[in-house]
Amino acid sequence: MLLSVLALLPDSVIVGIYGGIPVKEAVLKAGGKRYVVKAKGKRLIVNGVKRRRLVLKNVRLLKPVRGDYPGLFIIKPKKGGFIMLNKVPREEYIADVIASEIGNAPLEALKAQAVLARTFLMRWGKRHGTFHACDRDHCQRYEGRNRVKPVHRKAARATRGLVLTYRGKPVEVLYHASCGGWVCEPRYVWRGGKRLPYFWTGEDEDCFEDDNAHYTWKVFAPLKSCPRVKRIPGSLRAYMMIVEGDTLYAYDMRRRFNLPSTVFAYWCTETGVIFLGTGRGHGVGLCQRGTILKARKGWDFKKILKFYYRGTTVRKVGR
Ligand SMILES: [Zn+2]
Ligand SMILES: [Zn+2]
Repeated sequence: MLLSVLALLPDSVIVGIYGGIPVKEAVLKAGGKRYVVKAKGKRLIVNGVKRRRLVLKNVRLLKPVRGDYPGLFIIKPKKGGFIMLNKVPREEYIADVIASEIGNAPLEALKAQAVLARTFLMRWGKRHGTFHACDRDHCQRYEGRNRVKPVHRKAARATRGLVLTYRGKPVEVLYHASCGGWVCEPRYVWRGGKRLPYFWTGEDEDCFEDDNAHYTWKVFAPLKSCPRVKRIPGSLRAYMMIVEGDTLYAYDMRRRFNLPSTVFAYWCTETGVIFLGTGRGHGVGLCQRGTILKARKGWDFKKILKFYYRGTTVRKVGR
């Protein structure tokens, strides 16, 4: 039934390192040799010698960021300098993403994250045209091999080829660090946010009762007028703010005031506004904190995924 999408789950993944953004200089090591790469027009200068491209194996990148990258490391010119791409087997990529995105967590939580990371690949294909994903939040964080522990590989292996689907199609992959007690639909975060049947708005009880201080926060914003906030009925989650003549949706609200989440109470003082909140991230889709708490209670990854993505099915679509 899903034959048409089978081909869309690649055997290897090409990741744009450093956001896939062109850089002008890089320093790296491979096979005991050190390489200094610079950009010159449409060519590379590698240790002083002109090259069209550079392909190395098992690289340690030292500049512009540090990281160890297994598989192939490809450097090729692009307008503005050169880009760095890492080509790795798919499940190696998945293990790195879950290590980078959720890190230290119970196995079932890692497995849930692995299924989503794989679903992302299937949904987007080559999101960046010539490569599948960048290594940043825009796609999925991929921070290099040093982060990956045996448990991350185990979670990837245990869910090999599995993706999350709704009516036969891969779901939109959205997740966040902690919902603060309330998850919500995309329309409460982004102006014109898509209405997708599997996202819902309501209480994530485990996070509501969670008293982990790591997820509470306080932010002060110097403002002359006191903002007006609209909340999702029955919750502390704000979805709109009217402030200094602007109407801000949750996403813009967070950017403007640097708020970790939009689950907050606030007070206006003579010098500004104090926001006191809980949670981290936008609140849509899978809540990583809730996932960890549910895994600790004994939920398996399928039950966790179906809680956050209603009416969905975990399916095997690749080897
Ligand atoms: Zn990206
Ligand atoms: Zn939650």
